Amino acid sequence: MAELKQLYQEVILDHNRSPRNFREISDTPHHAEGHNPLCGDNLKVWVELDGDVIADASFIGNGCAISKASASLMTQAVKGKRVSEAKELFASFQKLVTGQVSPQESKEVLGKLILFAGVSEFPVRVKCASLSWHTLNAALEDASEAVTTE
Ligand code: ZN
Repeated sequence: MAELKQLYQEVILDHNRSPRNFREISDTPHHAEGHNPLCGDNLKVWVELDGDVIADASFIGNGCAISKASASLMTQAVKGKRVSEAKELFASFQKLVTGQVSPQESKEVLGKLILFAGVSEFPVRVKCASLSWHTLNAALEDASEAVTTE
């Protein structure tokens, strides 16, 4: 567990400093906004679909390191996945960060995302970590209203 914690910190810092897929996708109708007023995290997520496959995913936003790193890792994780697979990932991620499953149990499905297991010890941070996923979900459903964690 100590190793996982150290790796968690390194990955969060890295993705916060240089977030991946940090850009707009201008020619897609699938995008949504998400807000976590409790912490002040604001995100916009874009997805480009090719049939039911997520051909591209991106985000822009500002907020705490956890929300940004989570969004960055999420865009990497869902790229190339089917929409249904992305939703399963979201469900597994949610279970992990709320402590319903252990990192060992979800390792196969979540890969790198198991690093967020530590978040389950800090209920306030769960919203930071899951904001991007809620926003992705809204983008996939073409929700016109912004997502809020409150
Ligand atoms: Zn936050």
